Amino acid sequence: MQSYDVIIVGAGPGGLKCAEMLGSSSLSVLLLEKNSVIGPKVCAGGLTGKDLAYLNLPEELIEFRYNNVKLHVNNLTSAIKSETDFAFTIDRTAFGQWQLQKLKAFPNVEVRTNARVSEITKETVTVNGEQIGYRYLVGADGSNSVVKRFLGIKSANKGYGIQYLIPTDKYTDFEVFFQPKYFAAWYAWIFPHKGYVSVGCGAAPWVLSAGKLKDNFHKWLRKHDIDISEGKYEAFPMDSDYQGYRFGNVFLTGDAAGLLSSFTGEGIYQALISGEEVARLILNPDFVPVKIPEVLQTKQKHDKLIKLMIDAGPFRSLIFGTGALLFRIPRFGRKAIEVFG
Ligand SMILES: Cc1cc2nc3c(=O)[nH]c(=O)nc-3n(C[C@H](O)[C@H](O)[C@H](O)COP(=O)(O)OP(=O)(O)OC[C@H]3O[C@@H](n4cnc5c(N)ncnc54)[C@H](O)[C@@H]3O)c2cc1C
Repeated sequence: MQSYDVIIVGAGPGGLKCAEMLGSSSLSVLLLEKNSVIGPKVCAGGLTGKDLAYLNLPEELIEFRYNNVKLHVNNLTSAIKSETDFAFTIDRTAFGQWQLQKLKAFPNVEVRTNARVSEITKETVTVNGEQIGYRYLVGADGSNSVVKRFLGIKSANKGYGIQYLIPTDKYTDFEVFFQPKYFAAWYAWIFPHKGYVSVGCGAAPWVLSAGKLKDNFHKWLRKHDIDISEGKYEAFPMDSDYQGYRFGNVFLTGDAAGLLSSFTGEGIYQALISGEEVARLILNPDFVPVKIPEVLQTKQKHDKLIKLMIDAGPFRSLIFGTGALLFRIPRFGRKAIEVFG
C-alpha cells in the first residue's frame, strides 16, 4: 500500500494553500481532487482587500477593482465609497490554476485529479478503489466534506447559494441588494467579471426553503429586467457550522471546517488562512495559530448579525434601511467596509 505523510482531500483554495505551505518541507504530500480540472467552483468570485493583501495576486488575475459598492435596500440606493479599492473579482478557474502552478516547484507534493475520496479510516483513504495510507489527513473538501462526515460531525448550519453566470459586458457596478421580501435576512449580488456577470443570492433553508428562494430569485430577476436566457444556473451548499478544525492527526480547513461567513457567504479568505495555519501545525505541533482565531472572531460577529436579522422578521427592512442611510456617512461607510470586508 502506498503511504504519504500528509493527504489533503480537495484542491480548492484551502487545500492548494495547505499543499503550498508543506511544499518546501521533507514531508511527502498527496493532494486529491475529485474533479478533472482544478479551480472551477460555484462561486461569485468576489474578493476583499484582505484577500488581496494576503495573496499578492498577479495583476492579470484581477478582473475588476472597486472603491465603491451600490447598496440597495428595497427602493433606496446608497453608495459606500472608499479612497482605496476594497472589492475585486477573479475567475475561480484562473485562480485555482495559479495556485496549482506554484506546486510545480515542489517534488514532495503530488497532485491527483479525478481522485474522489470515497472512504476514510483512521489510517487510510480510498480513492478509485485504491487504499492509501496517511499520517496526517487534511479535509479541504468544501461544504459537502467527506472528512467532516468521517469525524462524525453533522452540520446543522448549512445554507446554500444560487447564481446565474450570464455572458455579458453590460454590468460594470458592484451591487448588493438587501430586499427582505425576496431574500429574508440575506442579499442578492451583481458581481461583474470579464465577459460575464455573476448574479446570485443565498439563504438558509430553515428561514427560506431552496424552492422558495429560487422562486423569489426569479421574481427579483424579472423585476430588475435581468436577462438570464443565456445564463448558466448553478447552486451549491454553504457550510458555516464551525465545530473545530483540529482533531488529533485530522484537520479541517475552509468550508469543510464551516469557516464560511453565515451572513456574507464569503469563504475564500478563511479557506486560504486555515490551509496555511493547518500546514504550519503539521510542520510544528507547537505552532500557535493567529489568523484562524481572528477569522473566528469575525465569524462570531457575522453569526450574531444574521441571528439578529432572522429574529427581526418584519422589521428587517427598517434595520437594513437605517444601515443604508447611515452608510452614506463616510465614517459609517468605512465601518461597514471593515465589518463586511
Ligand atoms: C453561490 C456562491 C457564491 C460564493 N461567492 C463567494 C465570493 O464571492 N467570495 C468568497 O470569498 N466566497 C464565496 N463563496 C464561498 C466560496 O466559494 C468558498 O468559501 C470557498 O470556495 C471555500 O474554499 P475551500 O477550499 O474550503 O473549498 P472548495 O473551494 O469547495 O474546494 C473543495 C474542493 O474539494 C473537492 N472535493 C470535494 N469532495 C471531494 C472528495 N470526496 N474527494 C476529492 N476531492 C473532493 C472539490 O471538488 C473542490 O475542488 C461562494 C459560495 C457560493 C455557493
